[in-house]
Amino acid sequence: MNRRAFLRSLGLGAAALAAPGCSVFAAGEGARKPRNIVFILADDLGWGDVGCYGPTPGLTPFLDDYVKGGVRFTDAHSPASTCTPTRYAIFTGQYAWRKPGTGIAPGDSALLIDTDIPTLPKLMKQSGMVTGAVGKWHLGMGPGPGKTDWNKPISPSANDIGFDYTFLMAATADRTPCVYVENGLVVGLDPDDPIEVNYKHNYPGEPDGKRDRASLKMDWDFGHNQAVVNGIGRIGYMKGGKKARWVDEEMADIFVEKACAFIEQNKDKPFFLYLGTNDIHVPRVPHPRFVGKTPFGPRGDATYQFDDSVRRVIEKLRALGLERDTLVVITSDNGPMVNDGYKDRAEELLGNHKPAGDWRGHKYTPYEGGHRLPFIVCWPGAIPGGRDNPALLSLVDLGATFAALRGVPLPQTALPDSFDQSATFLDPAAPSARANIICQDYQLNLREGKWKYIVPRPAGNAPGPKNNPLNGQLYDLEADPAERNNLVKQEPARAKAMYATLLKAIADGRTRP
Ligand code: CA
Repeated sequence: MNRRAFLRSLGLGAAALAAPGCSVFAAGEGARKPRNIVFILADDLGWGDVGCYGPTPGLTPFLDDYVKGGVRFTDAHSPASTCTPTRYAIFTGQYAWRKPGTGIAPGDSALLIDTDIPTLPKLMKQSGMVTGAVGKWHLGMGPGPGKTDWNKPISPSANDIGFDYTFLMAATADRTPCVYVENGLVVGLDPDDPIEVNYKHNYPGEPDGKRDRASLKMDWDFGHNQAVVNGIGRIGYMKGGKKARWVDEEMADIFVEKACAFIEQNKDKPFFLYLGTNDIHVPRVPHPRFVGKTPFGPRGDATYQFDDSVRRVIEKLRALGLERDTLVVITSDNGPMVNDGYKDRAEELLGNHKPAGDWRGHKYTPYEGGHRLPFIVCWPGAIPGGRDNPALLSLVDLGATFAALRGVPLPQTALPDSFDQSATFLDPAAPSARANIICQDYQLNLREGKWKYIVPRPAGNAPGPKNNPLNGQLYDLEADPAERNNLVKQEPARAKAMYATLLKAIADGRTRP
């Protein structure tokens, strides 16, 4: 879709081209360095949940307007269809399946990223930026289960992989410990009420999601029945830290306030900010002012809350006069999941809304619904807005891309699966820097041109193709975007060739030449 058609699809005519915040610049003016980068990563937000992608209006009113001044990528993908491996790949520039143990991490996981490897935030620091991480982490912290003492400075932490400032939830909102960790220290620690965390057994005297089910303010559907915090069952157990425990309803506001404070404190120097929102992951418990904003119950209201969080961060940039100097990227870590373990009526209230749009599958699956993402880039000072960009892109590319935009040389061995997509960021007509992408769920899939090959699942869950390639799936995404017609039998040579490409990517240990 060209820019005019895209604007038309948003109900806009030529007048929109001159609207405030909808800057239009001649090609070539964009070739300069962004002073700041703000990277906003939603959680489990689907293609169809964002109004300017999906058919359902009203869930993301700010983004739908904001994108008129930015670029809407239409072929962007998470490198995994779950949280932890996607986030690992973003920050290391390495596909997570290369490192065992990077599946969905428990809340007491050890830090999964080696502190001595190049990372995205380290490159941003090297370019002269102050680096901050606020929000969802889910990449572990400390030495790991049974060894991390939550009552002392936690080391190693996200601060040891390149972030100057961190304010994080350790894992996910549905996992213990249900506390915020600022620069490696739990916020609100009380020496008289020490925190303990484990994933094996409850502590005597603590409420229990199974036993005390009747008292929960949001019931669980599956899992999420161990510790009870803020009246909600979680995965994992904890005791102590009563004053430090988060209140779900306040979480989005707290993350936005910390993000805006970081921007304010660093407004006079270049900064890189990662904001990982909790929305719209479970448990979906938006602030009361958003309850009922949509007809879809907590899941829709959490989406509305996410949109408002983005609005507040962008308005902070605008208020400080930083918007034209700041590259903003807004995307999600994987596809949507409607029922993810709590009885929040998400399925019942879904109506005609399609969280993954017309794509097949959802979070956890190898289909497009698992990993094709909304991906919005906006930099009013340099990138012409109101356009679509069809370039093939993976979130694992963000490291090399941001490094190139900031003028940091990328060593050959660093971020081995990250491709520099800065050309296509600056010019939607520029081709993608990569010929293919690899995504993982429990198995790998390869996209190359219009073709997508999904490896058969071997015995066990070991990542990597180990079976007869002709037991896999092959789809022509141009003719069959819904991935309904498996063409392996019709195209056996292509399936074998794509399988061989995957084997080579595994054996080589890298995909960037
Ligand atoms: Ca996620």
